[in-house]
Amino acid sequence: ESFDDMGLQENLLRGIYAYGFEKPSAIQQRGIVPFCTGLDVIQQAQSGTGKTATFCSGVLQQLDYGLVKCQALVLGPTRELAQQIEKVMRALGDYLGVKVHACVGGTSVREDQRILSSGVHVVVGTPGRVFDMLRRQSLQPDNIKMFVLDEADEMLSRGFKDQIYDIFQLLPQKIQVGIFSATMPPEALEITRKFMNKPVRILV
Ligand code: AMP
Repeated sequence: ESFDDMGLQENLLRGIYAYGFEKPSAIQQRGIVPFCTGLDVIQQAQSGTGKTATFCSGVLQQLDYGLVKCQALVLGPTRELAQQIEKVMRALGDYLGVKVHACVGGTSVREDQRILSSGVHVVVGTPGRVFDMLRRQSLQPDNIKMFVLDEADEMLSRGFKDQIYDIFQLLPQKIQVGIFSATMPPEALEITRKFMNKPVRILV
């Protein structure tokens, strides 16, 4: 199978090929289409399998580009990972005109607020700063329709459980959830039970 057979928008395909990908990895072959269909997905996969492009493609395919409001929120355990995801999202979405911002600790709160108020489609971040932005109402959750937890097991082991729950409480009820995790500890399963609706489970 190729990226061409996934029903992706032309400008997303251009971004994928321009980034240098030729053939989808195993997780991409199995995960992109369900995510693009709007299903909740649990993908158990190590890093290095191509999971970033899986959820970035799913998000980019479903955004309404005419609405410059945050429609997708992606959380990761570290600043470095969040900034890496931001780069991939921006590169793959280059021809779609996607606006992405990373909200991570250790950077200026005011700068985050300035960029968020100027309008973005996607926010990628670490739980602490993202919750802070939501709490200050600098990040408006009303239009968020996709929520991705990357390296969920790592976020939980770093003690982000409460913040992840707090964030879920502030998001709209009807939201697509994607969870990517190398392992599925009980706390991760609890999140899937509490917040996901008939998730598709993909093991790579
Ligand atoms: P990830 O698991 O998302 O961290 O990706 C691991 C590495 O594989 C990254 O360097 C990606 O750029 C690369 N990669 C992901 N998908 C593909 C693909 N379909 N073709 C070639 N390289 C890929």
